[in-house]
Amino acid sequence: MTASEGATIGLAIRHLAMLLERAGIDAPLRESRLIAAHVLQLPPARLTLSEHEPMGDAMMAALLSAAAPRLERRPLSHILGRRAFFKNEFIVNSDVLDPRPETEALVLAALAPPWSTVLDLGTGSGAILLSLLAERRGARGMGTDLSPAALRVAEANAERLEVSARATFGLSDWFSAVTGRFDLIVSNPPYIAEAEMAGLAPELSFEPRMALTDGADGLGAYRAICAGARAHLVPGGWLMMEIGWRQSEAVTALAAEAGLRDVSVLPDLDGRDRIVTTRA
Ligand code: GLN
Repeated sequence: MTASEGATIGLAIRHLAMLLERAGIDAPLRESRLIAAHVLQLPPARLTLSEHEPMGDAMMAALLSAAAPRLERRPLSHILGRRAFFKNEFIVNSDVLDPRPETEALVLAALAPPWSTVLDLGTGSGAILLSLLAERRGARGMGTDLSPAALRVAEANAERLEVSARATFGLSDWFSAVTGRFDLIVSNPPYIAEAEMAGLAPELSFEPRMALTDGADGLGAYRAICAGARAHLVPGGWLMMEIGWRQSEAVTALAAEAGLRDVSVLPDLDGRDRIVTTRA
C-alpha cells in the first residue's frame, strides 16, 4: 500500500489488522489501532477523527516495521513499551513479566484489609507493589527480585507513579535479603510447571523464563514463600499470593503446613481459583 494509491490512516489500520489476524492474534483491529496510535504519536481515542487523513509512505513503512515483531508474536507491550494494569500504565520490556489482568484480583484482595507496610516478592515490573502504594497513600513497601534488570524496570515505574519515596527495592532470592516484618506480603511468583512450558502461547517465549517457571513442578516458589512468611510478618499480618488456577489445593496445603491460619482461595474475573490469602 502506498500514498499514491490514496492511502489513509484508516486503510493502514485495516491493512495491519488483516496481517495481525493472519498471524493468529485474537483482537487484530484493537491491536492495529494501538500500534498505529503509538507510531503516529496520537492518543488512541483520536484515531477515529484522523481516519481520513493521508498515510504517507514513510509513515506506512514505520507502522509495518513497528508491527513486525508482533507478527512474530512478541507481546504487544514490548512494542508499545507500556502496559495498562489496574489504574496505571507501567513500563514493560523483555526483562519483566508482562503484567496480566488476572493479577488485578491480587491487588484488589490486598486493598481490602488495613496495612501500612508491604513486601512484594518477585516484583518484576513492580505492577503489584506500585499499584498498592499508589492506592494507599502513606503506606511504604519493598519489592524484591532475583533479576537486577527487572529491579531497574520496577524503579523506573516507581518514579513514573511518583511513589519512589515510599518504595525500596532489593535483589533477593525470595526472603534471602529481606529483614524485618511487614503487615502484608504479596507475590505473583513463577508458577508454571516445567512440563507445561512447551504448550504455552507463543508470546510467553519472549518473557523472562525465570518469571514463568521454577523449572520443576511449579510449586517451588510457594514452598519458599510459605516457609518464610511467619518470620517476616507481624502477628496477624497477611500473605496473599497469585496461583495457577489448578494449584489451590497444593498451595493451601503448603500454607497450612507452614502454620499459617485463615487460609482461603479467591477467584479471578473468569471465576477460576487465582488468589490464596492467609495470615500469620
Ligand atoms: N509481580 C510481577 C507481576 O505480577 C512479576 C511476577 C513474575 O515475574 N512472576 O507482574
